[in-house]
Amino acid sequence: MYHIGIDLGGTNIAAGILKESDVAPLLFAQARPADDSQPLVRGDSCLLYKDSIPTHPARSAEEIIADAASLARTVAHRAGVDFRDVTSIGFVSPGTVNPLTGIVVFAGNVPFTNFDVKSHLRRHTGIEKITVDNDANAAAYAEAVVGAGHGVRDFLLITIGTGIGGAYVSAGDVQRGFNFAGGEFGHTVIVVGGEKCTCGRLGCAEAYCSVNALIRMTLDEMARADAAGERTLLKDIAEKTSGVNGKTAFDAMREGDKVAERVVSRYIYYLATALTNYINIFQPEILAIGGGISKEGEYLLSPLRRIIYSEMFNHRQSPDKYTKIVTASLGGDAGVIGAALLAVKEWSHKK
Ligand SMILES: [Zn+2]
Repeated sequence: MYHIGIDLGGTNIAAGILKESDVAPLLFAQARPADDSQPLVRGDSCLLYKDSIPTHPARSAEEIIADAASLARTVAHRAGVDFRDVTSIGFVSPGTVNPLTGIVVFAGNVPFTNFDVKSHLRRHTGIEKITVDNDANAAAYAEAVVGAGHGVRDFLLITIGTGIGGAYVSAGDVQRGFNFAGGEFGHTVIVVGGEKCTCGRLGCAEAYCSVNALIRMTLDEMARADAAGERTLLKDIAEKTSGVNGKTAFDAMREGDKVAERVVSRYIYYLATALTNYINIFQPEILAIGGGISKEGEYLLSPLRRIIYSEMFNHRQSPDKYTKIVTASLGGDAGVIGAALLAVKEWSHKK
């Protein structure tokens, strides 16, 4: 039995296929495995094949779904799997999604408003077992089952990109809230009366901890240094990459640049503040950070741990009771893998 995951984004539609017997032992294992050397398929390698096509989001939702369905057939074909052996499809998109009805309520920069994905995908693929969910929920579920959170009961994924995404997985279930709109970690205020957020609120974590926020802080500090006549490598590094991006300040800091060091430590302090709040509420055993910025590795994690472990409420407990802070392990495939796994979870016990 095979399952396909489809991850709809503003730029690309990605799809991948996996074999149920490869992942089922991980998915339904409640307890931590006694032996870490278990010969199970984890992470990236659980996809037999994956591919992506452009979304072209100016089109109608119907056209996008038709393309997503043909991409699903393509990945099955390329993986050497007869499409009749595909048991279920998981489809995830940004925004608010009702997994009970299969309706995408609102998806931001993709034209899906109160759109019945489940019925449309059923019609285009002939597959009855369709699961629809939010992309951040899928990514967190994938990391919890086959990635950085494997084997723990309470797991939190925070993804840092143009915005802040995330989801909390506890006892094998994504915690969505009664109306499925929960888990908006980015839209919690860390600076009262602060910068305006995309959601309209002032001072949200997203307005201080996203890559866009880091870019804004880098540009502000460059302008300030320029006005003060302070020397900095930021401009030279930014020119080589045709503009400031989320790496510019980290790269300059590694060259010993003092101005960049200020940007990075300011950014990390905001991020640590948001993450400490999440840890105080949920106390996950593992908190994984995903998104491009996680490539900074210990340059990001080690100062984060220093601040969080001194500020969090339970810092007086013994360190083996501290939340482990790590980078996510599935990269850009987390959404596709999670979409397929959510479908396996929903349908494998239903006829
Ligand atoms: Zn917000």
